Amino acid sequence: MFTEKPWNRTLSQTEPSKNNGAIKSHHGLDSTAPISEYFGELTFGLGQMREKLPKDAYQNLVKALDQGKKLTSETGEAIATVIKEWAVQKGATHFCHWFQPMTGLTAEKHDAFISIQHAHHSELKVIERFTGSQLIQGEPDASSFPSGGMRSTFEARGYTAWDPSSPIFIVEGENSKTLCIPCVFFGYHGEALDNKTPLLRSCQALSSEAVEFLKCLGDLDAKSITATLGPEQEYFLIDKHHANARPDIIMTGRTLQGAPSPRGQQLEDHYFGSIPSRAQAFMVDLEHELYRLGVPVKTRHNEVAPSQFELAPIFENVNIAADHNTLTMETMKRVASRHGLVCLINEKPFAGINGSGKHCNWSVSNDKGENLLDPGTTPHQNLRFLAVVSVVLQAVYKHADVLRAAIASPGNDHRLGGNEAPPAIISVFLGSMLDKIFNSIEKGEANQATEAQIINLGVGHIPNISKDYTDRNRTSPFAFTGNKFEFRAVGSSANVSVPVSILNAAVAESFREATQRLKDLIAKKKNRDEAVMELVRTLATESKNIRFEGNNYSEEWKKEAKKRGLPILNTTAEALEVLHNEKATEFLVSTKVLSRAEIESRYHIAVERYNKTLEIELRALNELCTGFILPALETQISSSAETLRALHTSGAKVSQTLRLEMMETALESILKKQSTLAEKLATLHSKGTEGQIMKAIAEELTPLASELRQACDQAETWVADALWPLPKYREMLFLNNQA
Ligand code: ADP
Ligand code: MG
Repeated sequence: MFTEKPWNRTLSQTEPSKNNGAIKSHHGLDSTAPISEYFGELTFGLGQMREKLPKDAYQNLVKALDQGKKLTSETGEAIATVIKEWAVQKGATHFCHWFQPMTGLTAEKHDAFISIQHAHHSELKVIERFTGSQLIQGEPDASSFPSGGMRSTFEARGYTAWDPSSPIFIVEGENSKTLCIPCVFFGYHGEALDNKTPLLRSCQALSSEAVEFLKCLGDLDAKSITATLGPEQEYFLIDKHHANARPDIIMTGRTLQGAPSPRGQQLEDHYFGSIPSRAQAFMVDLEHELYRLGVPVKTRHNEVAPSQFELAPIFENVNIAADHNTLTMETMKRVASRHGLVCLINEKPFAGINGSGKHCNWSVSNDKGENLLDPGTTPHQNLRFLAVVSVVLQAVYKHADVLRAAIASPGNDHRLGGNEAPPAIISVFLGSMLDKIFNSIEKGEANQATEAQIINLGVGHIPNISKDYTDRNRTSPFAFTGNKFEFRAVGSSANVSVPVSILNAAVAESFREATQRLKDLIAKKKNRDEAVMELVRTLATESKNIRFEGNNYSEEWKKEAKKRGLPILNTTAEALEVLHNEKATEFLVSTKVLSRAEIESRYHIAVERYNKTLEIELRALNELCTGFILPALETQISSSAETLRALHTSGAKVSQTLRLEMMETALESILKKQSTLAEKLATLHSKGTEGQIMKAIAEELTPLASELRQACDQAETWVADALWPLPKYREMLFLNNQA
């Protein structure tokens, strides 16, 4: 069926051997053993600290954690000692400070656990050593991490510091084991140089503002609030030989050319289909590794597009969930490689079929573990639920633009707004039942706040109903799903810390304002519940424009959203400019999540990343044309022309001229567009500021590239399969990966 291409010839050899019994993972462990037996065996968290540490050292650690205080050096030494013992016994030879610079990836610098002891004379003795200060603070060479200009204002140094609230873990390479210490990364004056620092600050802001609000609401014993997160991760798996034969995938993680295969996702058979055995073997190995790392992955299934899959963990505290998601993405890539596969986490690896997102399920819970977005069973819980939902509505309404900016990335530009992913316009879907409840509160039909009335509203039935219902509106970028909100517009390759810190900050500010209003209302009225109901009514009315229950993909919604004055920021280039709007970002400053300088630096880094990513893509496309597509088309044209000449000479009456003419037109069109692209790329850096370069890329080069791509895709359909130099969509998406 397929031409013997070099990349297909090797496929079957790479298939991992399967047996029907126990599945041995990479590390030779039996992954049919109960998960609880090995879950977290490569981690060292608070549980083990409690077991292994002297009592006072453990108590100091807990105190430092609870009060956000610095660890004393004695406690640091004690902790470092037990960690080293554990790690060395597990076979780790090196340690690293594992942190999340603003590149969106993680960074690590490995150091060996050794130290030289001077024995007699010049004899050197090596011992395993790990000190408290090595654990607590590091100073990686920060100069090559992006700081968005902050280092010119401040100092060139950057520091990493242990985040004791996230468990330490060991990563096993092919023949190495490294202890990874989750860290924050900051500059000399404490300015955040990473994605974790703002996330931790946002959790703090959210907690303190929510506690104030809850106290005002009557929950006098509220102490702290935790934001919880369960990110669903979508991805593609393709064969390594296919990926290796595609310079675009190697350079950019996505295909920049590729005609649609006759079969795409129209049969909708992949989503419901059984998981192909090769992907299944990958997942089993992946999950096994993640369990050992303490990542609670729960579900695995096929996604809508061929060769697309999804993994979802059980939700955790957002800080840990964010670390676990980055660890998951890294592990996915590593495990895929072992299976002769490449895991594509880019938002849009293939045109014409679904892209990948990362649905961020988000909620808030109190220190008793009660989910504040769970309608609960008592009238008080119902009322609290309504109040918290209205606070979130207000937060998303007021900061839709910055939330949009927080999910902006080159990859997500291809995904948002297509008829397959949430649109770039932020709105909130509540589900018919909750929508109805809010509408009636708004109309003043339910303002008594009596127990009977609250029960009558039917809040308590929401979780069961919305579970069935909300699945039907997959078009909303921000949907209420029974007992949590699902921020669906987040891209698959994103570091979740970025959108989640913005969301936390927005909700924190909203809680603060709501507390003030509630206090004012209580001062005026006698009954607290009635005051709360009044607050819910006001917030719901004010934020009404952000609510949308209909089809977010429709043209009518775009018109309607415009009429409502909602921010419509179609591209990254438009969205990032929001970060320059001081009024729009004021809440980040007032909640102390980001300073003005930090916001400015993040703008620069995002623009720089956008420009660099796009420039690489555009250059890769250019190279694809000159090195692969044009030569193939030229060969085809000359061979067709020759055949035609031969046929004419022999007097045959065949007319192939039409096909030849079309190919020549295609050649001309590709040549013209490609040379224009090359010229524009050559002068790109003379466009002025990075903002102007971004604009030029978004407005001039990207549309040109998309026309060029179309012409190349067309060429693919003209050229003989045997002459086509790149693996095609049908090969990458369907071959050897389907059964
Ligand atoms: P489904 O949507 O398939 O019924 P769930 O709603 O239970 O499954 O979960 C989908 C994702 O949402 C999972 O990652 C889950 O852990 C997460 N999730 C569930 N409850 C919460 C919560 N309170 N906070 C954050 N995430 C949650
Ligand atoms: Mg999904």
